[in-house]
Amino acid sequence: MNTSELREKLDGRYKLTRQRELIFHILNSYASRHLSAKDIYEIVHEQYPEIGLPTVYRTLELFSTLAVVQKLDLGDGCQRYELYSLHHHHQICTACGKVIEIKGSLADTLDTAMNAMTDFSILDFRLYIYGYCKDCQSKRNHSSLPRSPDQNTTSRSNVI
Ligand SMILES: [Zn+2]
Ligand SMILES: [Zn+2]
Repeated sequence: MNTSELREKLDGRYKLTRQRELIFHILNSYASRHLSAKDIYEIVHEQYPEIGLPTVYRTLELFSTLAVVQKLDLGDGCQRYELYSLHHHHQICTACGKVIEIKGSLADTLDTAMNAMTDFSILDFRLYIYGYCKDCQSKRNHSSLPRSPDQNTTSRSNVI
């Protein structure tokens, strides 16, 4: 989304104030970071200390009403925001909180499958897939690995 598309969404009913433009730019430049209102506030605050957290919240609420942003619940009890885009889903690691976006061909496949399965005319949908990322899988496999008898013998002899 660019600034002229943002203007279109504001539709002459809302002014493109400096705060609004700034927050929009932050959402654009941290596109895959899934920022919370507080994250955005901290970035804004560095350059413009006069912009407070309530302004950030109000702007995000307006943006979400106008479908400029979408709210995300990634299961960590914190409301997050990203610029609205169709056909984009999320995988969330419940161990480390990493968020992996599902875009492109896998998202297209999901869309096609979803459309084929139902006679509901789907405009958009969001998938949140919870599990363990690659790093956390290998950590978990490692720690739950049963010890071989040999290792036990070695560690016992070490203790003695
Ligand atoms: Zn992880
Ligand atoms: Zn995302």
